[in-house]
Amino acid sequence: MTDPALPARHDFLRRHNFGLVLTTIAARGPLSRAQLAVDTGLTKATVSQLAERLVSCGLVRELEPARGAVGRPGSPLELDRKGIVGLGVEIAADYLAVCAADLSGAVVIHRVEGRDNRGAAPSAVIDRVAALVHAVREDLQATGRSALGVSVAVPGLVEGGHTVRLAPNLPGWTDLPLAAHLSVALATQLPIEAENEANLAALAELWYGIATDLDFIHVSGEIGVGGGVVVDGAVFRGVRGFAGELGHVTVDPAGPLCGCGSTGCLEQYAGQDALLRAAGVTGDSSTRDGDPNGPLRELVSRAEAGDERTTAALDAAGRAIGLAVAAVVNILDVPTVVLGGIYAPLAQWLVAPVEAELRLRALANRWDPVTVLVSTLGTQAAVRGAAGVCVDRVLRDPVSYFPVLQLG
Ligand SMILES: [Zn+2]
Repeated sequence: MTDPALPARHDFLRRHNFGLVLTTIAARGPLSRAQLAVDTGLTKATVSQLAERLVSCGLVRELEPARGAVGRPGSPLELDRKGIVGLGVEIAADYLAVCAADLSGAVVIHRVEGRDNRGAAPSAVIDRVAALVHAVREDLQATGRSALGVSVAVPGLVEGGHTVRLAPNLPGWTDLPLAAHLSVALATQLPIEAENEANLAALAELWYGIATDLDFIHVSGEIGVGGGVVVDGAVFRGVRGFAGELGHVTVDPAGPLCGCGSTGCLEQYAGQDALLRAAGVTGDSSTRDGDPNGPLRELVSRAEAGDERTTAALDAAGRAIGLAVAAVVNILDVPTVVLGGIYAPLAQWLVAPVEAELRLRALANRWDPVTVLVSTLGTQAAVRGAAGVCVDRVLRDPVSYFPVLQLG
């Protein structure tokens, strides 16, 4: 008698194998069918059958046969980078960004719009995001590309991939079902998810940046300060997904009031506005609509000119970052720190004070010094990570985007 569970098991295995073939090509391609069979442990016949379907859905393409090879089995397979993209969105306190990435994670479109989102109602920000995404999708369509999902980076606590519980630098963003609202604003059935921006920035550093194959904490400086911890190739999210809130680690309980309700949080010493104030750069970034990098450029040029107030502000910020990061190193034993966001262009003034605090306070540092690296992605990391998450989901489980793969 036939086991009734067999067809279900067969479907599950087949679904798993599509993802296995696709992620193997993504990691090590281009690969011949024979190489793919060796790398995946599947038979050549199974690989050929799966590959044919992946090609027909525009996920994989066949290259010219290798020299000397006869027939199709010799044609290497690689990801098809011409059709499908993942869309990343970043909602920051002082700008919006949209990024489309192809299946290899390479950027196809990247747009940034300076905008003070702190003074705006969430619904107005969501409408503007929808307009930006709509414009990007039209441009993609004109080149024969289409998006399979949207991932939104938010500077706050995001629960379940859909609801913003709290965003200290975005007043009014409390218990906000962002994914549902954006879905309505975009009038789309596309899968939409939300995630903490620092987690996405950390993933971007892992996938495309300076921290490939490392265990690390990524410290991203923006208006706020985000932290993303990566261990064994995955973001450490904590029980509810709220881990990594480095910006709200207390540096001095007697310090200034923070947007989160606490006092003396790291971002009150090392966030962008705190840095601008300490350096004596007048106004804050909210007065600079249209050029999100303006305040940062001013800070860098003052530091390069050797302005003492600016270099002292950067030294103090570096000390505060080092103090908070040393606590993370002591608790989680991560061997590497990546300075990202606005800290990347400011790294030459920050690395020394961060390292000094780590030498003083991180116990393991005495015999195995913590490595401090500088992000190569800078303020683009979160939106790159957001687009990358969409792509990653397609690669891991293409059947959920193309049910036709399973038929027949
Ligand atoms: Zn705080």
